[in-house]
Amino acid sequence: MKYIGAHVSAAGGVENAPLRAHEIGATAFGLFTKNQRQWQAKPLSDSSIHAFKENCTKLGYTPKQILPHDSYLINLGHPEVDKRQKSLDAFIDELHRCEQLGIDRLNFHPGSHLRMMSEEACMDLIAESLNFALSQTQSVIAVLENTAGQGSNLGYRFEQLAYMIERVEDKSRVGVCIDTCHAYAAGYDLKNNYDSVMQAFAETVGFEYLKGMHLNDSKGKLGSRIDRHHSLGEGELGWEPFERIMQDDRIDEIPMILETINPNRWPEEIAQLKDFSS
Ligand SMILES: [Zn+2]
Ligand SMILES: [Zn+2]
Repeated sequence: MKYIGAHVSAAGGVENAPLRAHEIGATAFGLFTKNQRQWQAKPLSDSSIHAFKENCTKLGYTPKQILPHDSYLINLGHPEVDKRQKSLDAFIDELHRCEQLGIDRLNFHPGSHLRMMSEEACMDLIAESLNFALSQTQSVIAVLENTAGQGSNLGYRFEQLAYMIERVEDKSRVGVCIDTCHAYAAGYDLKNNYDSVMQAFAETVGFEYLKGMHLNDSKGKLGSRIDRHHSLGEGELGWEPFERIMQDDRIDEIPMILETINPNRWPEEIAQLKDFSS
């Protein structure tokens, strides 16, 4: 089964996210459980938690259909110890919020070395942060998102995702999300070499770790390392790779989330993807 949706707004309360997903015909959704541009967040209220769960049940959204995204401020590999600690505290809070909401996974960008240390040293710190965060929480899977490799963001090679997974002690609580725009911008040619890219993923990381996908077309060219999303079919990727993904039975039972730039087009993008998968 393919679960297809978009990263919807949680304005007015997280309980509104499943309602907005339902309105656009989505069978999955992404959300922020707090303001993604601020460090501090009020705790979720009991009524908000209750309403979120009730709306999900009513509209048929189970945990494998929900992929929250953490704050953009968090950098679990920050080379400075106090800033890394601040990120770690915020990340643990995000994991707790997911637990409260009955969500089983949290998508995040691995981290950035800020040109202050080597890639390996930064990835070691990310894994160390993850091990601590997981030890402080019960159940949520930390989902590493591949990046475009813009700036000093790590996770732009499948090998880097594998390197970090290898260093996480509890393998049942780590996973990955493939963002198609990021992969293409990082040099993975999903348009012309779909089979070999997915084969590389299978051999390097493994589909058993795939806990979500972000379905975005790309404004940036192959290997440009520019992270700029586009509506499906309108960017460098075109529709074809998305048709392949929808027919790929290695990619099943996970939330597949649009982060495309025009929310008005989400209903038709979702409808087209559903059509490819049937
Ligand atoms: Zn992201
Ligand atoms: Zn993404």
